[in-house]
Amino acid sequence: MGSIQKKQVGEEPLGREQLGTKTDVILDAEAIEVRNLSERNKRLVKGGIAQFREATGDLAKFALDHWSVADGHRTPVDEDVDVLVVGCGFGGILAATRLHEAEITDIRMVDKASDFGGVWYWNRYPGLYCDTESYIYLPLLEETDYVPSAKYVPGYEIQAQALRIAEKEKLRDHAFFQTEVNSITWDDKSSRWTCKTNRGDVCRARFVISAIGILHKLHLPGITGIEHFKGHSFHTSRWDYKYTGGDRYGGVLEKLKGKRVGLIGTGASTIQVLPHLALSGAETYIFQRTPSAVDERVNPQTDETWFKSLPSGWQDERADNFDKIFYGGEESVDMVDDGWTRHIYALHKQKDNLPYAERLKHADNIQMELIRQRTKNIVKKSETAEALQAWYGRACKRPCFHGAYLEAFNCPNVHLVDTNGKGVSTITRKGVVVGDRNFDLDCIIYATGFDWGNDYSARANMEITGRNGLTMSEKWVAGPSTFQGMIGHDFPNLLLFTHLQSSTSPNYTHLLSERAKHAAYIVSETIKRGANSVEPTQKAEDAWVEKLENIAAQYLDFFKLCTPGYLNQEGQLSKFNLRNASIGLSAPQWNDMAAAWRKQGDMEGLELDGQAAVQQKAT
Ligand code: NDP
Repeated sequence: MGSIQKKQVGEEPLGREQLGTKTDVILDAEAIEVRNLSERNKRLVKGGIAQFREATGDLAKFALDHWSVADGHRTPVDEDVDVLVVGCGFGGILAATRLHEAEITDIRMVDKASDFGGVWYWNRYPGLYCDTESYIYLPLLEETDYVPSAKYVPGYEIQAQALRIAEKEKLRDHAFFQTEVNSITWDDKSSRWTCKTNRGDVCRARFVISAIGILHKLHLPGITGIEHFKGHSFHTSRWDYKYTGGDRYGGVLEKLKGKRVGLIGTGASTIQVLPHLALSGAETYIFQRTPSAVDERVNPQTDETWFKSLPSGWQDERADNFDKIFYGGEESVDMVDDGWTRHIYALHKQKDNLPYAERLKHADNIQMELIRQRTKNIVKKSETAEALQAWYGRACKRPCFHGAYLEAFNCPNVHLVDTNGKGVSTITRKGVVVGDRNFDLDCIIYATGFDWGNDYSARANMEITGRNGLTMSEKWVAGPSTFQGMIGHDFPNLLLFTHLQSSTSPNYTHLLSERAKHAAYIVSETIKRGANSVEPTQKAEDAWVEKLENIAAQYLDFFKLCTPGYLNQEGQLSKFNLRNASIGLSAPQWNDMAAAWRKQGDMEGLELDGQAAVQQKAT
């Protein structure tokens, strides 16, 4: 393998200017490809998408709600509503807001949590931030008149915005918390969904909006022995402050001092948690299967004068600008100008004749090389710095940004246990085993992420039964099947907010906002046209699925060469399961498609009460 050389990399840890725009790094692209492939091959044996363990049965304790203040007991209700919204995260909140705008107010909202916020309700681990810019990530800033404290804000500030919108829209009156929807079943005669909850409620709804989120069902590593560990253990999304001390506002985890703590996983959650464990004085063992690529993040406080001078409509404009640049569109200005956009934006300034894809690949290689160099510059022990090198294409795994993660490895109480791609072997009564090494621990923290699988009913934890007893799992047996990624034949009046067969974005709340607009339009148009049911024709759905499969096929070669992760079905994405791909239209493409479709006004592809909506309008 050839060597990777640089003409010039500064002695200082690389700063923002360098990471975004430097092009004087000389790369041996062939050597990088060989190394990327060999690292990927090591990890193919991870066991694919089915490797993880659910937090059920003996492991159910991992999913308990630490934040609820009451047991949630109440008298069950039996009711009829216009719209049932499943989920009180930003998806559900935005759905309700858009429904209100369409003057649809007979809404029931349900969530297993005991308050609004979704992932920002559950995740309260120390150091939690969103590294998508707050000015575009926090929805409805103009409507709520809220000024975020900084460019990137902590989790509690994000949840506060969810609560602020919920108060403004008076959503609390509509919400059942600590309540799980167990099943929804379509009844053709009444054109209603019957929803049953774990609290004994029965709710008949004309429409259901399923805004369950994509990261709500935590999972544990696919290893044996988790249930046998005699020390303390929890998942990052259920941080146990009673055990660790400290709080979500930055208080030091003082109860961990002197304890031996294991942290399994090195994704975006760990990147933020580790510096806090380092500070606590715990002997921290961090078990790594695949290193994250950790770029820097500059986080200035908000300049209120600037913020208040922004013209009406600025937030959507800024969010659109971000998505367009992220997806390679040419924009005259990079409004957000951060680690998500800067190097892509810079591509358009380069004047050469190479095709865009080639330029992007080259820019990504440079970016990854600079990140590897940054790691070496910061981490003092060369063996540790080497083990932390990320070898894959930048789009293979979720990029991470943090100013203190790499520094944490210089603390004498932080120990990287690199598993050379193999992962933790097993958990025993006493601790963690990696190969032939045993690590006795007082506490194990699982930073092992969330179910990203495509069995929608399993992920939603609810049985969804459409027309003629057809379940969603049966319909999706060969992978998701939808029209516009939102609605399916034989499942009338059910609108899904998901990234599948549609689009995704690092700015997920903007995506939710666009889905909410679209769902509210479909619901209100169906009602306005005096129809009881709306669903796609089978033909329209099949055409959509085929279109999205064709798009995914274009990225197959790239994702096949990626290290396994949730973006490529843990290495199992192939031409036979393209429907499961997390890749589809770009966010701007989906948003433009949906806006144009609404503007056209004939609900093309949908049928109302079994008749094509287009024809109905014509008659
Ligand atoms: P991830 O799914 O990103 O990471 C899970 C980690 O667990 C991976 O490092 C994985 O390794 C590791 N793992 C799984 N099984 C084993 C095993 N047997 N042995 C050792 N390691 C194992 O979860 P996160 O909670 O970190 O993040 C989930 C998502 O949440 C992110 O991708 C992001 O979208 C979002 N998020 C965003 C944040 C932000 O805005 N800053 C912060 C936190 C989360 P491997 O990579 O090899 O599979």
